[in-house]
Amino acid sequence: NGSVAPPHVAMLVTPGMGHLIPLAELAKRLASRHGATATLLTFASTASATQRAFLASLPPAVSSRALPPVDLSDLPRGAAIETLMSEECARSVPALTGILRDLRRTTRLVAFVADLFGADSFDAARAAGVARRYIFFPTNLHVLTLLLHLPELDASVPGEFRDLAEPLRLPGCVPIPGPDVLMPLQDKSNPCYKWMVHHGAKYREADAILVNSFDAVEPGPAKILRQPAPGNPAVFPIGPLIQADRGGSDDGPCPCLEWLDRQPARSVIFVSFGSGGALPAEQMRELALGLELSGQRFLWVVRSPSDEGAVNDNYYDAESKKDPFAYLPEGFVERTRAVGLVVPSWAPQIKVLAHGATGGFLTHCGWNSVLESLVYGVPMVAWPLYAEQRQNAAMLSEGVGAAIRVPESKGREKIAAAVREVMQGEGRGAAVRAKVAELQKAAAEGLREGGAAAAALAEVVEKWTCGEN
Ligand code: UDP
Repeated sequence: NGSVAPPHVAMLVTPGMGHLIPLAELAKRLASRHGATATLLTFASTASATQRAFLASLPPAVSSRALPPVDLSDLPRGAAIETLMSEECARSVPALTGILRDLRRTTRLVAFVADLFGADSFDAARAAGVARRYIFFPTNLHVLTLLLHLPELDASVPGEFRDLAEPLRLPGCVPIPGPDVLMPLQDKSNPCYKWMVHHGAKYREADAILVNSFDAVEPGPAKILRQPAPGNPAVFPIGPLIQADRGGSDDGPCPCLEWLDRQPARSVIFVSFGSGGALPAEQMRELALGLELSGQRFLWVVRSPSDEGAVNDNYYDAESKKDPFAYLPEGFVERTRAVGLVVPSWAPQIKVLAHGATGGFLTHCGWNSVLESLVYGVPMVAWPLYAEQRQNAAMLSEGVGAAIRVPESKGREKIAAAVREVMQGEGRGAAVRAKVAELQKAAAEGLREGGAAAAALAEVVEKWTCGEN
């Protein structure tokens, strides 16, 4: 019946391109494969130029709407980003309720989806009478397992996680050493810890949780979470969802890609720390000297050191404030000119990873970066910074074996050794390269029609659209 409106999904995006990109990708997939339309609801605090341009590039089936600004000025200076996002969401519940009522009137609204810091918005969905409430979890099943267990861990683990004598063992998961446990859980006196416990408890109100991961990269927790258990929401691994290569003519020529065109196949290590990551000045220096010492070709996205501009600043608008080149060792750019390219602030990461000259990725292990690397079959050197990145690094290096982790001391020799091993090593490096090739295949198979991820999403859409009233 052509007169029936398409099913519509409202999606709440908490701040950060790392949340927006996969959620937008999910919306696009719902549109292209399932004939749905979607509205992305964003917070006023992240109305950056980068975000606006991104939202403007989405297809007509995916619209967006910004929530009105809320006052956060009473929060202490230096509040954790997780606290800011959680507070902004909780304080937006009244406005969100109004918008969802509106969408119920004007569209065939079948479900509400909030991302990982947005669970408080379920109160708005309930008040607006939206029957189906889902979480979209943009990171992985290991982190999800931790958050689902957090209310009970909060009661049973005395002291700080970083002081645990034994690694944290959770069902199906790679044991996580205490200091590698999710950063916002590392100081129980910080309000962001309480927020995370709150979110973990709140996830149980979800009808189901959609996760941007796939079984092959973390088979242990996938097996556990796929089994229905009383009191646990159903979990659907629907990944890897990464930004489809835009390749539009609007991009213009890119010096990185032109440079890569001139390099031999699989010879370059790409070095980047996500949309907000920056190193302390001393580590930035060791990394420069380590890359030089490795003798490998490299493409490095440099940012001003983190002790100069807060991580939060970078995170919220993705542009370095100062000239990052000023922090490189004397003569470094000249000495490495024949083998390396250093670009400030930003590179088209997906195109770089997809390029045939790229053979390795030194990454902060942000989950989007990890998925992009796996989709394009690029083995990783893990150099985690914050959020869940240390946990991701542990799981990738000690678990599935898709990365080699740079030792904590971060000296130039150790950096050079890890880079060389991933690019050319015969032992551990060869095993990592083989594993990544295997995961690349598994990821592609899952997304194909009838594959595990495609089937999981189809099952969710079926739930959304059958038995509507
Ligand atoms: N990104 C990019 N160019 C850059 C840095 C980041 O295109 O120079 C993209 C990257 O491809 C990924 C996202 O920004 O999609 C970063 O997300 P991730 O989860 O890896 O890290 P976060 O930015 O959340 O720390």
